[in-house]
Amino acid sequence: MFNLDKIVRPNIQKLKAYSSARDEFKGAAEVYLDANENPFGTLNRYPDPRQIKIKERLSVLKKVDENQIFIGNGSDEVIDLAFRIFCEPGKDKALTFSPTYGMYDVSAGINDVELIKQPLLNDFQINLNQLQPYLDMEEVKIIFICSPNNPTGNCFDDETIEYILENFNGVVLIDEAYIDFSSRASYSTKLEKYPNLIVSQTFSKAWGLAGARVGVAYANSAVIDLYNKVKPPYNVSTLNQEAVLKSLGNLDEFEINKNSIINEKETLIKALSDIKLVKKIYPTEANFILIEVTDANVIYNKLVADKIITRNRNTLVDNCLRITVGSIDENKRLITALKSI
Ligand SMILES: *Cc1c(COP(=O)(O)O)cnc(C)c1O
Repeated sequence: MFNLDKIVRPNIQKLKAYSSARDEFKGAAEVYLDANENPFGTLNRYPDPRQIKIKERLSVLKKVDENQIFIGNGSDEVIDLAFRIFCEPGKDKALTFSPTYGMYDVSAGINDVELIKQPLLNDFQINLNQLQPYLDMEEVKIIFICSPNNPTGNCFDDETIEYILENFNGVVLIDEAYIDFSSRASYSTKLEKYPNLIVSQTFSKAWGLAGARVGVAYANSAVIDLYNKVKPPYNVSTLNQEAVLKSLGNLDEFEINKNSIINEKETLIKALSDIKLVKKIYPTEANFILIEVTDANVIYNKLVADKIITRNRNTLVDNCLRITVGSIDENKRLITALKSI
């Protein structure tokens, strides 16, 4: 049985959150002399530490309570705080699958937490038999599931994910950075069923705001309370909050751009399938395509010489390049360049 109190680090359990001036007075006033701010300028006031306006919007859009939402400085902060809340440095462990997003490993290293990396099967699905013994290991506190997975592009089977959620006593962090490009439902609809579930999403991909650094975690309010306790008080700047609110206020543009990327992906896949040096195109539910080529290092360098940068994933999956779907013109340039190699 999942018991949140049992898996939170004792120091975090005991921690009293920093109470900012804006936490202590939340109403509207006319004269603010409580935060040692400068009276001059336009960015002179501290940002809203609870990002209430963004949460109001997301709550309606995603049909979750505002107290089930955490806003982070990119989803990288959502990942880092998970380690800091649940994993005792030098003692506890976390688990993920390989190949996957590299930040889990870096963040684990920074926090002095061992990250166990279970190889995915040949079709890039999770090997549940191999995973089974880890589900009962007390020192394994977090399982990271990136779905759709970066760099492979596939989603994991729902039965497998639900089996893990039901049978693991630690927290399961499902990284849905690419979920908007997929036709699948987000696991954020299952928060009531799974108290150990954290779903992370981001404004960096489908929302086109990578420069703004805003990520989101959806979880039970008890988990969100822990995130709020541990985060730096003003973790999302005023400028970044405004950028997100502007995007959330224009959902039509979001849909148009997202659908255009999805359509362009299909066009790009067709064009790639006619190119001889492309040996395999993996199925993808994200805004990128993993392709196997004759010689990834050579082709990567030839593209660089053409001023086209792809991601060489040869060290993760033999002879594979990861290609982000760009604009119509950018994709055409890529195809032209590949044809001339
Ligand atoms: C791009 C990406 C993110 C986004 O991270 P941010 O810090 O929100 O920009 C998160 N997870 C995965 C798997 C990604 O590929």
